[in-house]
Amino acid sequence: MTGSSEDLLLTGGRITTMNPAQPEAESVLIREGLFAEVGKDRDLIQRHPQARGIDLGGARVIPGLIDSHTHIIRQGNNFALELRWDEVPSLADGLRMLRAQAERTPPGAWVRVVGGWSADQLAERRLPTLEEINAAAPDVPVFVLHLYDRAWMNAAALRALGIDEHFYEPFVSGRLERDDFGRPTGLALARPNAQPLYALLDRAPKLDREAQITSTRHYFRALNALGLTSALDCAGGFLNYPDDYGVITELHRRGEQTVRIGYQLFAQKPGRELADFQRWHDMVKPDQGDALLKCVGAGEMLVASAYDFEDFSYPRPTLGPQMEGELELVLDFLLANRWPIRFHCTYEESARRILDVVERVGGRHGLDGLNWIFDHGETITPATMERVARLGGGISYQNRIAFQAREYERRYGTQALREVMPVRAMMAAGVPLAAGTDATRVSSYNPWLAIHWAVSGKG
Ligand SMILES: [Zn+2]
Repeated sequence: MTGSSEDLLLTGGRITTMNPAQPEAESVLIREGLFAEVGKDRDLIQRHPQARGIDLGGARVIPGLIDSHTHIIRQGNNFALELRWDEVPSLADGLRMLRAQAERTPPGAWVRVVGGWSADQLAERRLPTLEEINAAAPDVPVFVLHLYDRAWMNAAALRALGIDEHFYEPFVSGRLERDDFGRPTGLALARPNAQPLYALLDRAPKLDREAQITSTRHYFRALNALGLTSALDCAGGFLNYPDDYGVITELHRRGEQTVRIGYQLFAQKPGRELADFQRWHDMVKPDQGDALLKCVGAGEMLVASAYDFEDFSYPRPTLGPQMEGELELVLDFLLANRWPIRFHCTYEESARRILDVVERVGGRHGLDGLNWIFDHGETITPATMERVARLGGGISYQNRIAFQAREYERRYGTQALREVMPVRAMMAAGVPLAAGTDATRVSSYNPWLAIHWAVSGKG
């Protein structure tokens, strides 16, 4: 095998190979975006004289990271609209950034901080107040989301949306905090889930198509800078196939996509999920696409009734009695058509019921050779992990509990906090595991926070 001029040879470095038999190397040959060969400088230079060379000067090189559960397509469309508080060390810093951003925000545009941070990371160990947000941005509309928990809108945002004491809308009005005169203060709570907050955010100005393309390129570059080169996209509410996939499809067409994406389709209409999947099955098939952009299955929302909402500051939700019937209907269709599946599941109590359905429908159609993923699983037991393994599934776990650890401890106690998100037990259960972030509305998109959390005994 001789090297072509297209090959890239990195020498004089410390290469992490992920091969247990040879974990380190001095140099690596990269061909068509993949590690093709690793070894000693002397050998690789001799074998590949034509390759374009870079001397690393002792720097570390890792293979590209893969985020196994993230909402990258949605975030790409919004990244340029957002001020991010990921890793901001103090509330004072966050508010300073907010003030500076408001000052350079053009008329008509908003400042949005949409997740990726929590009070636990801030030196002050507390959330901002509405007074502080209003003082930092008196004129420019501001929307700040904290986890799947609450959002603050400043006075300018309330004015822009026409939200005053007369405001009434089902699902949204009841989530707004009001003062003694019935005037909304700007605080909105995620009850029974985050949808009312998203419905408010959805009214803020959006980017046009070309700006979304630029925004997505910026987001991909930010991810590339952190070493991330591949992602499994878990879609989300308001990310409807194929309408909302135009930006990523266009980037792919232009050859400007710098993160490989496997995407799965997320049911959009509660109670009518089967119709979505039937429609999509006529438009796209699993594995359709290429190495850069490919449909890889259905999920993480298969049916809304099987979705246990993960705000750990609130009691665990119990799935409704209709869940089994609705999930069975959809799974029957998907597994009969060999669609790989993945599903959101936070709690052990939900997991047992959902796995009953997977087992039953899987028994009819066969799960052999079909990739399927159990997502999250913060409180699942070893028995459930072994059950997933027995059924041929894998688990995708994330560090989102790190953003609500104090809330979790307050509700369930210190011992429960030690046991939550049992990564080591998952490893012991022999179930295939993949790490991810679940970015960007709860967790940060920085994969190193997830890696640090996982290897440091979950911080
Ligand atoms: Zn999820």
